Amino acid sequence: MKRVILLRFGELYLKGKNRNYFEKVLISNIKLNLKGLNCDFYRSTGRYIVTDYDEMDESIIIDKLTKIFGLVSLSKAVEIKTDINDIREYISTLKFDVETFRVSVTRADKNFPVQSNIFERELGGIILSKNPKLKVSLKNFDTEIIVDIRESGKTYILTDKIQCAGGMPLGTAGKGLLLLSGGIDSPVAGYMMSKRGMSIVGLHFHSFPYTSELAKQKVITLAKEISPYCGKIRLYMCPFTEIQEEIHKHCAPEFMITIMRRIMMKIAAKVAAMANCKAIITGENLGQVASQTVESMTVTNFSQTEVPIFRPLIAFDKKEIIEISRQIGTYDTSILPYEDCCTVFLPKNPVIKPKLEKVQKEESKLDIENLIQTAISKIELIEC
Ligand code: ATP
Ligand code: MG
Repeated sequence: MKRVILLRFGELYLKGKNRNYFEKVLISNIKLNLKGLNCDFYRSTGRYIVTDYDEMDESIIIDKLTKIFGLVSLSKAVEIKTDINDIREYISTLKFDVETFRVSVTRADKNFPVQSNIFERELGGIILSKNPKLKVSLKNFDTEIIVDIRESGKTYILTDKIQCAGGMPLGTAGKGLLLLSGGIDSPVAGYMMSKRGMSIVGLHFHSFPYTSELAKQKVITLAKEISPYCGKIRLYMCPFTEIQEEIHKHCAPEFMITIMRRIMMKIAAKVAAMANCKAIITGENLGQVASQTVESMTVTNFSQTEVPIFRPLIAFDKKEIIEISRQIGTYDTSILPYEDCCTVFLPKNPVIKPKLEKVQKEESKLDIENLIQTAISKIELIEC
């Protein structure tokens, strides 16, 4: 008898001819995540199995596996040689502190001498005799004991299902450039896009010395915190102070934020091209602040046309975003009180419905191309 972890994947089944490719990427992601841990991983007749690990490492392994996009669920299981008496004996050792249960037998091995439904009843009887307070319930059960008799001569017995991250394997949807601020939203936006298979490269604008070294560290920490899901992140750190000072000096204050965001996008499009990213990702959310009205986002969109902007949180409630940020473990870092560059020079009355022509007129007071070139030449790259 051997302890193993069985892995299940979901949507990959839908991918027709591409399925092999998706599966290959998923397998390589699993191997990468388990690297350094003493365990074995293999695929056998439609099952992924992690085995030969130290019991002490089980929870670490499970924690890592639950964060791999493409896996839907996993189960701790025991693997035994298919032998009817061995199965009976193992089942008779199980103890439960729930009220109801059912047994489900699947029999891929048609040489097994007893039919599934008959064997289910027999095993149920054994469990009842050892756990007299338990009741059978075929529909609303607290625990399902699955006995999976495979063609390989092995039987897997499992009782629990742990949910994994779902989605598509990381790396199957190209790379996206995540505009990562120190807030709650942008790390969640990166997580959501990685859930659909997109790898993440980060871009952060800082306004040193108006923003502190701690604000920069906070963004690096956030990039590290999403990396169990999104993979290791290369983070571009772009200085934004001079640009903000110039806008502040030359443009009407109500357009400050709009122009800042348009310049951020222009820079992002250039960085995306440099880093081979096919999309820009932001944590914007309809109606959250003045720069996130449909009019503001439209004016931002017109700042560049080379790279599409993905806003995966556009229709979320803040409460829902916070829930995800807690679940993925970024919330506590996000709420640390360090200034973000957007809060420096914040105007009292930003335009809520900016008009493109007016914004362009204000912008024409700046030597934008030069400012962008200078900022890009000072970008620093950090491997998080
Ligand atoms: P967040 O919680 O992600 O900071 P927010 O609600 O504070 O978002 P804004 O400050 O308007 O909203 O930013 C909207 C989006 O613009 C952010 O989600 C992020 O993608 C991007 N952004 C804002 N500030 C920066 C920055 N300093 N560097 C990189 N991207 C930024
Ligand atoms: Mg912010």
